[in-house]
Amino acid sequence: MHANPQNGSIANIAIVSTGGTIEMLPDRGGLDISGHHDSLHIQGDVTPPSIDVEHIRFCNVPSPSISPEMMTQLCLKLEELISSGRYHGIVVTHGTDTLEESAFLADIYLRGTIPVVFTAAMRSQSEMGVDGPRNVRGALLTASKYEVHKLGVTVVLNDEIHSASRVTKTYTSNVSSFKSPGYGPLGFVDQDRVMIQRKPMWRIQLPKCRLKLDQRVGLVRTAAGLGAREIRYCVDCGDKALVVEALGRGNVPPDVAEAVQYAVERGTVVCVTSRCYIGRVLGVYNYPGGGADLERKGAILAGDMQGHKLRLLLMASLGIGLNMKNIRKLLERL
Ligand code: ASP
Repeated sequence: MHANPQNGSIANIAIVSTGGTIEMLPDRGGLDISGHHDSLHIQGDVTPPSIDVEHIRFCNVPSPSISPEMMTQLCLKLEELISSGRYHGIVVTHGTDTLEESAFLADIYLRGTIPVVFTAAMRSQSEMGVDGPRNVRGALLTASKYEVHKLGVTVVLNDEIHSASRVTKTYTSNVSSFKSPGYGPLGFVDQDRVMIQRKPMWRIQLPKCRLKLDQRVGLVRTAAGLGAREIRYCVDCGDKALVVEALGRGNVPPDVAEAVQYAVERGTVVCVTSRCYIGRVLGVYNYPGGGADLERKGAILAGDMQGHKLRLLLMASLGIGLNMKNIRKLLERL
């Protein structure tokens, strides 16, 4: 069912639930996943009259428990639902902690012909000012708008529509936590209206494939005097690729640059990103450990992609059998 629902007709939306705070209730020690298997509240005011909802349970866990393998299975499930032709759109409910990773993996994998929208809650159903029902409603409205599929996978929280490729959880506790630093939202949900204000010009996508991840990809964040030991450890453990979250424009301490060389000489793909949360890495510094030095040593400077998303991209790239040349090509536009 890839057509636009006609004006006045009902949109069929699948809600795929995975757990997270949106489904949690307090127990004696604090918030936890509710024992009720069908704990997702999608009835009443949450579902606009123009939308029919089918609830599909994928899992019911806090999102730190969602492994890359589960994210892969989720993407394959979404692909199956899309190709069933039964839905005008899909909403995925997820814990906020790793939502941006699941949504990003779905974005680089799915070739969407219908909207796929992730949502979540910063507050549980038991808290004052609960945001989950409103977020689900916003996500349902967004998923029922046909044009949204052209934006790639989106994330809707707090009335804002974000691209899965750019969005990140910025605040541990506030309902306005999800932001796209340096880019901003793609649009807004205003009462019952979905206002799309901009469209990404491009997005990074895997070649057509069946998704598979290679687990042997490490992530090392650098700091003053930190990173060399961690990089060597990842290489010695057999990692095939490594994301190095460098400082500033893509620079590292001199001993970290030597560790990068150690990794490259052993055949590990090293991709450099920045611990700054806005801006690209580029080889403008030529001192030992500068970005230009890292490039000369064989590292790939990977634009402005966040380290944890880049790691998933590399896991998928290796998993589907891309070689170093293909990976360079894929990252070229970042
Ligand atoms: N710790 C929770 C989770 O990610 C946070 C949330 O859902 O907001 O599952």
